[in-house]
Amino acid sequence: MLHDKKNSIANSPAIDFKDKTTRDKFDRWMIKSNLLQIRLVSALTGLLYMIAALINSMIVSDDILSLMITIHLYVMPPFLFLISLMTFKKDLYRLFIFLLIIAPVVATIGNLFITSELEDPALYMTELYLIIFWIFTVSGLRLWQATISAITTVIVIFVVTYFFFSLSLESFVMHCFWMLASFSFGFLGAYLLEKSYKEVFSTHEQLTQLAMTDKLTGLYNRAKLDELLHNELNRSKRFQHTFGLAIMDIDHFKKINDTYGHQVGDMILKEIGKLITEDLRSTDKIIRWGGEEFLLIYVETDKKEVLKRVEELRLKIEQHLFSISNIITASFGLTLYSKDDTIDSIIQRADNALYIAKNNGRNRTEFI
Ligand code: GH3
Ligand code: MG
Ligand code: MG
Repeated sequence: MLHDKKNSIANSPAIDFKDKTTRDKFDRWMIKSNLLQIRLVSALTGLLYMIAALINSMIVSDDILSLMITIHLYVMPPFLFLISLMTFKKDLYRLFIFLLIIAPVVATIGNLFITSELEDPALYMTELYLIIFWIFTVSGLRLWQATISAITTVIVIFVVTYFFFSLSLESFVMHCFWMLASFSFGFLGAYLLEKSYKEVFSTHEQLTQLAMTDKLTGLYNRAKLDELLHNELNRSKRFQHTFGLAIMDIDHFKKINDTYGHQVGDMILKEIGKLITEDLRSTDKIIRWGGEEFLLIYVETDKKEVLKRVEELRLKIEQHLFSISNIITASFGLTLYSKDDTIDSIIQRADNALYIAKNNGRNRTEFI
């Protein structure tokens, strides 16, 4: 098919992709690139909590120690290591993202429990600002997920410190300021990071599309063929479907070049590409296979139907009034998927059929 322009990426890498297909594709791409980050960051954070527990055990007085050890050793590390392990199972994605969103809230509540017991909470409150920063910049959460997590965290901190802590006015105001600073720096960092991810993704998509597109006709080129056929073979094997594959070669195309010149030849190739595209269903595929050869994939069909459709296309080309007012015809080699087929075997059969079509006088369809 001609590439669907609607689905192509917007030229200006805005923070929001307009269409749902691109958004979904970007989301899948982000999951892939964030998986390792979430795995490593969760594991490292768990480890740092264990180091904190070790330090606590060496320098903290006995009355508060057991609470610290509980939170820094028995709550946070298992929680974070669990998230880290879950990243090995992609189908648990929603669950571990949810846990990653609430992990900072749990850490915050733990911290507030500890600091509420201290005479001078300032030293331990630093962790709260670090948590907010951590959510946005290193956690691996997407911007909207991080924002939910950070806002919840800030609300918990604000409510608890306002109502249950007896901070002096100066301490409370500065405490709020540090929260504002870590939130705004964090949010800006996450926003810019997500924006550059989108830019990289856009460029990646544009280059991939360019590499898969034939410049002259705008159709898929041979580089895309393997992927398309691979998908179709898999699908047909899995669901016991069949698909038809035709190779079409324009008859005596050299004569058109010789008579009208190469540029007119190019124009005819474009015209034919358009003609075939109009004739195909949206699920069928057309690839510019070689110079004046096209490969057509007819999905979910049978011999009778695909023969009928290829014959209709052949007649359509024969009857089309081309800009050079000449009759142009094409030969077709057609085959149907059979269960032991590979990419090479099915193409080879269609090619053999085309060879027979040419030998039998051209402007005809042969089926093997
Ligand atoms: P037939 O297939 O019926 O046997 O005859 P033919 O004249 O089409 O034979 P062949 O396949 O050998 O020739 C194909 C010609 O297509 C040769 C080449 O000059 C021309 N061709 C290939 N690619 C392009 C292209 O991109 N633009 C133009 N204008 N011509 C091309
Ligand atoms: Mg040829
Ligand atoms: Mg030809």
